[in-house]
Amino acid sequence: MLAAKPHIVILGAGYGGIVTVKRIAKQLSTNDANITLISKHDYHYQTTWLHEPAAGTLHHDRTRMKIADLIPSHVQFIEDEVVEIHPKENKVSLKNNEQVTYDYLVTALGSVAETFGVEGVYEYAFNKWTLNGARELREHTEYMFAKYNNEQKEEYLTFVVAGAGFTGIEYIGELSERMPELCKEFDVPMNKVKMYVIEAAPTALPGFDPELVEYAMNLLENRGVEFKINMPISKVTEDGVILKDGTEIKAGTVIWATGVRGNPVIEKSGFENMRGRVKVTKDLRAPDYDNVFIIGDCSLIINEQTDRPYPPTAQIATQQAEVAARNLANLVKGRPLEEFQPDIKGTVASLGGKEAIGVIGDKKVFGFSANFMKKMIDNRSLWMIGGTGLVIKKGKNPF
Ligand code: FAD
Ligand code: NAD
Repeated sequence: MLAAKPHIVILGAGYGGIVTVKRIAKQLSTNDANITLISKHDYHYQTTWLHEPAAGTLHHDRTRMKIADLIPSHVQFIEDEVVEIHPKENKVSLKNNEQVTYDYLVTALGSVAETFGVEGVYEYAFNKWTLNGARELREHTEYMFAKYNNEQKEEYLTFVVAGAGFTGIEYIGELSERMPELCKEFDVPMNKVKMYVIEAAPTALPGFDPELVEYAMNLLENRGVEFKINMPISKVTEDGVILKDGTEIKAGTVIWATGVRGNPVIEKSGFENMRGRVKVTKDLRAPDYDNVFIIGDCSLIINEQTDRPYPPTAQIATQQAEVAARNLANLVKGRPLEEFQPDIKGTVASLGGKEAIGVIGDKKVFGFSANFMKKMIDNRSLWMIGGTGLVIKKGKNPF
């Protein structure tokens, strides 16, 4: 009699999830395992592009693609929200479907906004870096302009970005680039608009190359952005934000970008975690569960050179997915597992239009060359999940 085929379940169709599915489907045949992908929507979106649709410089459809078009036909797809994982029972609870049982699980559910206990973030700030979150923020921005035309309240044209990390900087880069066009469309003089970026640390982009930080800040200031550095936001209210020194900034739009924590499903499911991220073993498994891999923003791995966690990035999520897929195949075939070692190629951040900054290897890039690199990185990530056809359909022009 043939042994039952193992059931591999992958949670989340972001960078980690989709790349795992694509790779595992190549390494295991339909005779080796049944594979199921579960994700909230029937589309994958490029999380790393979301600052663009959020500011309205790119249509959100350019950032998403149907999952059915990305995954092999023998992979089963369930469109549903994961509510809880029961690692002791090898089961996953879903919002709308029955529980799913697995032999091997890959958790790649991404992250949510970190508030660091600041009151009012969930109630009053735009904090969802998801496709629907981006769509809502873009619509709201346009609504604020339309409202200003009727009521002339200054705060409608005041935008506050909380956090000058990469998300905050990339977002304000797009918004400031679009601002002249928005003002023209809504017959509003540019000098009525206020764009603030408020950062708790003593510098924007803490830890990044100071010369490139200066380049970015000068460029953004020339587009009308005002930085408030070394000034944590201590509260978000219906009317705007309150800073640590008590200053109130009235704003119709507050955008939260002060870092992330792992998906709340991790905490709910009882995994030992730090801010929703599980410190995984070298082969990317949850310490107490040999059949559960955790990758991407839900995982935490330590940079042994600095003894600090690596920042959660798509770069790492994708590399982890490659190793998780090989290790799943290793487990199914009874082979030893390999260890994950990140290979950090660099960091490139867009600043809107044809501007960007970055460090690749030990080389600094800015302006045209950085913008070229950024677009090529974006195109490469499309190529990884959908090949040349997807790059032609959704890719970006690097020139
Ligand atoms: P994601 O890619 O976010 O995917 C999570 C998936 O899980 C999604 O499909 C989601 O719908 C699904 N999901 C979530 N909750 C549930 C649930 N309960 N049930 C079912 N499905 C669920 N990193 C870089 O390396 N380079 C960059 O240039 C870069 N730019 C960024 C720009 C922005 C604006 C942002 C917000 C982030 C950026 N990052 C960048 C970080 C990067 O996007 C993340 O580290 C990366 O997306 C993590 O991959 P992941 O697979 O863990 O999660
Ligand atoms: P982050 O941690 O990189 O930056 C958050 C910033 O918010 C920090 O500078 C922090 O000092 C500040 N902050 C925290 N609390 C604050 C408060 N109360 N008031 C004001 N400022 C406050 O987080 P992020 O920018 O959200 O990015 C999340 C992850 O995604 C990171 O790992 C980042 O590297 C990655 N990412 C990468 C890129 C890229 O490579 N181009 C782009 C976006 C995001």
